[in-house]
Amino acid sequence: MPALRVLSLFTVLLTTAVSVPYLSYHTSRIPVVGSKPEPSSNRISTDGSAAENSTASHTVTHRVSVGGRCGPDAGHCGEGLCCSPAGYCGSTTAHCYAPDCQLDYGSCDANKTPEGRPTDDIPRPWIGSVPYGQGIYSCRAPYTFAMTFDDGPNIYTSDLLDVLDNFTAKVTFFMTGINSGKGEIDDFTTPWGALIQRIHKSGHQIASHTWSHQDLSKISPSQRRDQLLKNEAAIRNIIGGIPTYMRPPYSNCNVECMADMADLGYHVTYFNIDTNDYNNDDPETIQKSKDIVDKALARGQETPGHPFLAIGHDIHAQTVYNLTAYILRRVNDAGYRAVTVGECLNDPRDNWYRWDYRSN
Ligand SMILES: [Zn+2]
Repeated sequence: MPALRVLSLFTVLLTTAVSVPYLSYHTSRIPVVGSKPEPSSNRISTDGSAAENSTASHTVTHRVSVGGRCGPDAGHCGEGLCCSPAGYCGSTTAHCYAPDCQLDYGSCDANKTPEGRPTDDIPRPWIGSVPYGQGIYSCRAPYTFAMTFDDGPNIYTSDLLDVLDNFTAKVTFFMTGINSGKGEIDDFTTPWGALIQRIHKSGHQIASHTWSHQDLSKISPSQRRDQLLKNEAAIRNIIGGIPTYMRPPYSNCNVECMADMADLGYHVTYFNIDTNDYNNDDPETIQKSKDIVDKALARGQETPGHPFLAIGHDIHAQTVYNLTAYILRRVNDAGYRAVTVGECLNDPRDNWYRWDYRSN
């Protein structure tokens, strides 16, 4: 599996070099931001420690310095140091990036908090007719095709917006706040804030994919809540409101997670077409993703107008520079409209966000 192969390479590098500022994967035309090239939805930690040990306790109490070992059997990194996925203390992006930096044994990007007033007391009534706190897998409006992009924004997202403009297509972005070493999305010294404002002004839908892409079913309830609230604050800092739609990382949200999403007023959004683009990010193999979409559209003809909700990732070059235009051409040819998730569910735009009207 390519993602795991990249991760293995990454782990080897991390065990042999303290600083790994950039890796670029073989199909990339330009370097990927940060050191973690592929935070795709199928990736898991090498040992699952970042998530699964979130509530684990250990008896090691000393604080480990730079270069020392950390983790369940080794200890906790000293002040300000991150515990890398491979279990070494340090402060580089390679040590601190989310989601694989080990939350329980040091600092991590995931532990950073957006500036400004927390969003936890923004009222969250269940507005509209789309259900809250339960999985949504399909659209309602006939002849709609809701393309969605997870894990961004990233270096390709601006070019993706140009592609979408060319087709006058509207899509939905399930955004992460800080993962893969890209920095905080609301840090306007990075490109992300202005990019997200462009997304918003262009009429695309902005939705949450959590702050740092942890598996929501494998972290504690307070960590889970934090994952949504922190991303809300960052998005509020950029567009003035918080989204009502989210997609759980790894498409994993257990019963407790669903209850929390209901409490926080979120539509939990899955999909009925998986383009599998994260496994086909290569000029030779991206055709497989195109075939998936073609087959789905062909099946849809058996029930004319059957709507679709598809998942892709704007962090992959082939998705942005090849697959998306192909899909949009096919969608147009089939007489469908490329719309946001909200529109495909007949949910008015006013219901996609909760604006932060608090006075201070
Ligand atoms: Zn994801």
